[in-house]
Amino acid sequence: MIKEYVYHFLTAGLVVTDLTKRRALMMSNAFLLIETIIFIIFSYVNPIFFNSPIIGLLDGVSAIASFIALIDLQRNKNINRAVIVGTATLFFFFISYAFSNQNHDFGLIWTIFFPIFVITLMGHKRGGMVVSLFYVILFTLAYIGIGEWDNGTWNLHSFIRFSLASSVLTYVVYLYEETLYRSNMELAFTREKEAKYLEELHRLSATDSLTELYNRRRMNELLQEHIEYIKRYDAPFSLILFDIDDFKHINDHYGHNIGDQVLIIISDLAKHVLRKTDHISRWGGEEFLILLPNTLSEEAAAIAEKLRQRVEETDYPHNTKVTCSFGIIQSCQNTDVETIVDRADSALYKAKKSGKNCISINTYESE
Ligand code: GH3
Ligand code: MG
Ligand code: MG
Repeated sequence: MIKEYVYHFLTAGLVVTDLTKRRALMMSNAFLLIETIIFIIFSYVNPIFFNSPIIGLLDGVSAIASFIALIDLQRNKNINRAVIVGTATLFFFFISYAFSNQNHDFGLIWTIFFPIFVITLMGHKRGGMVVSLFYVILFTLAYIGIGEWDNGTWNLHSFIRFSLASSVLTYVVYLYEETLYRSNMELAFTREKEAKYLEELHRLSATDSLTELYNRRRMNELLQEHIEYIKRYDAPFSLILFDIDDFKHINDHYGHNIGDQVLIIISDLAKHVLRKTDHISRWGGEEFLILLPNTLSEEAAAIAEKLRQRVEETDYPHNTKVTCSFGIIQSCQNTDVETIVDRADSALYKAKKSGKNCISINTYESE
């Protein structure tokens, strides 16, 4: 329960699938909250216990700025703006703090939070630049303060120790952030590649490799979907089952390769005759099944006739004559895939029986 609430707070109620973006969002919320709490505490502690009203005032102003940035982030979900405001607050606070605290009671130790917060929030490139600028100013101040700060005890040794330790820490945080960034990039790249493979696999599993039409498996799915659809809506579909006439003869005379070429030509012809909403599949060897949604059998017959003529008129290798026979069926309610395809098959059989190169419509009564 508490865990869920914290997660909801850290993601500002957003569902973010991009891992890098989600991390940035959660970090920004967490850091701004921590920043706000620490500043509120010190805005009381500094003036009351350490007799430092100026630093207390700085703490108070920074607490307000961090809090506004936090509320803005929760409401408007603009990570970039929140990060800029949060960083600017820390930047000006620590510089003014160092200036007025002058490492009294090891006060400079607090500045180690700057590279940790900023590089994590802004990323290694942008954050690295901001932190470099920050240290240029801070180290300059600290260098000028040699012999003066901390009641004159701040010496060159203290300065070197502080600047070296801060630089090493910054480099470690930078390195950590950079490697994380690289791994995330690689992960995103791999994911994209996997998604493409998956898409290709999906396409291949639904496609006939020779004709590039849907295969029987995919057409069975489509039939199932359309049968479900007409159970609820009064929108009948029609099927055209067609078969190349005497295809065995073409294979026997001109070879399997020419047979394959004829299959490809016929598939292309059919694709061009059909509408965008129609679906065509290679149902068997030289048999094709077309699904025409929202189509009555008379309209299907007109489409089939157009295709029949195109097939007959087209030129094929070796000047072969190719024709097709067509069987048509319109859907009725409470049918199933097997029954309706069987009926289309009966119509096709009739067309073959009537001398091939023609169309036969199954009207149910005719069965
Ligand atoms: P009908 O007019 O009655 O349909 O006669 P048909 O010769 O077309 O029918 P039959 O079923 O006797 O022969 C179909 C032939 O289709 C047999 C098979 O070798 C051939 N075939 C099936 N798949 C392919 C293929 O992918 N490529 C080629 N080239 N031929 C194929
Ligand atoms: Mg045939
Ligand atoms: Mg056949």
